[in-house]
Amino acid sequence: MNGSKVVVLGGGMVAGYAAKQLVELGLRHGELAILSADHSVPYERPPLSKGFLAGKDTEEAIRINPEDFYTKHGIELKLECEISGLDTKHKRLFLKSGDEFGFNKLIVATGARPRLLNVPGANLRNLCYLRTLNDSKVIRSALEKVKHAVVIGGGFIGMEVAAVLAQKGIEVTMVLGEDRIWKRLFSPEMSSFFEAYYAARSVHLIKATTVSELRGDGAVSSAVLANGQTIPCELVVAGIGVQPATEMLANSGLDVGDGIIVNEYLETSQPDVLAAGDVANYQDVLFGSHRRVEHWDNAVSQGQYCARSLMGERIPYKHVPYFFSDVFDLSYEYWGDLSGADQIIHRGDFSNKSFSVWWLRQKTVVAVFTMNRPEEERDAAPKWIESRRTVSAGKLEDASQSISTALE
Ligand code: NAP
Repeated sequence: MNGSKVVVLGGGMVAGYAAKQLVELGLRHGELAILSADHSVPYERPPLSKGFLAGKDTEEAIRINPEDFYTKHGIELKLECEISGLDTKHKRLFLKSGDEFGFNKLIVATGARPRLLNVPGANLRNLCYLRTLNDSKVIRSALEKVKHAVVIGGGFIGMEVAAVLAQKGIEVTMVLGEDRIWKRLFSPEMSSFFEAYYAARSVHLIKATTVSELRGDGAVSSAVLANGQTIPCELVVAGIGVQPATEMLANSGLDVGDGIIVNEYLETSQPDVLAAGDVANYQDVLFGSHRRVEHWDNAVSQGQYCARSLMGERIPYKHVPYFFSDVFDLSYEYWGDLSGADQIIHRGDFSNKSFSVWWLRQKTVVAVFTMNRPEEERDAAPKWIESRRTVSAGKLEDASQSISTALE
């Protein structure tokens, strides 16, 4: 049986950043193996729906570590390697090839898979999902030939892909289940801003309906909506969320629910097995709740955390959830978790694309969105969320005053 002292299961961002950190911390040759189902060495995922999709970034530019990094540091990187099971008691992974792979310590970072559209016609060509480098390449090459596209979902993938497609001159229709864009995350004012921004760039938004059928002869040629409309299109991109990839962990002994349940040290219910990234449902010591975070920043920081943990550090994982997005010429950032917020403060000016949004719960800041705001607002956002300091909503709203005056 092959094996390694430390194994990362999953070749995504957790693996890339854990490997990088382990090398920096003095990993010895031959001590780390990465088992990846992907065809490519670990890469950054954010460009897949932004610069790489738009043709601005090369494959090489989005690698987390150079291609020769793994051999240079004696890391065994097994690509296109899928597992069928895990035995945590005997510390072995069962590969689909029939082989077994042993470990002393394991980081499970299997990520998530796109939720699939379940409608008639879902097997037609040119219905695409975007998760892997290969998915992005498929959509990128389709862009050359497409004039009309339908984007299903108004979350991260929907917003970013629709923006790239529209900038390529493709006529884009976004189909949103809710009555306004990204109701889950945006205030009504923010939804209005983004809806107007997209509409002004020729993206057609159809709200409060779903795609009920895709039609076409081999490849998709139209999308039929539940409201009766039919949209001609040669490409459909569905960004309707993801599900943690845990099916191979049945009978592994790990506690699996919505992802792998881990504690504040990212430790699973089994000794010597950590979980990190999209698949990890961790105890968040800042918010006092369990959460799964599906963002780049989380994969990076948890990958690095696992590396330090394997090297002997043991302090709870403490991190303000964060993401960023780029759509058209806009870039924005978001920290925290708005659930339970009882007040929303808008600061700045929507008309000149410079505003921040502050979600408060009992006068403490729980989430912040910023776009084109002074650096001090960016700095305050994670610090205030972490510190639980109370703020004056009235002062916070007054953007003519420095942000620090809002602290009580
Ligand atoms: P997402 O952000 O969770 O958004 C999914 C959207 O699809 C939601 O608006 C959801 O609405 C809607 N939806 C769900 N089922 C639907 C259906 N049957 N028909 C129409 N709409 C439906 O997920 P995503 O956009 O697919 O992104 C996938 C993953 O990539 C996420 O984990 C995301 O974090 C990650 N990602 C992140 C970034 C970034 O951080 N900038 C960029 C790209 C991708 P409801 O909310 O009403 O369910």
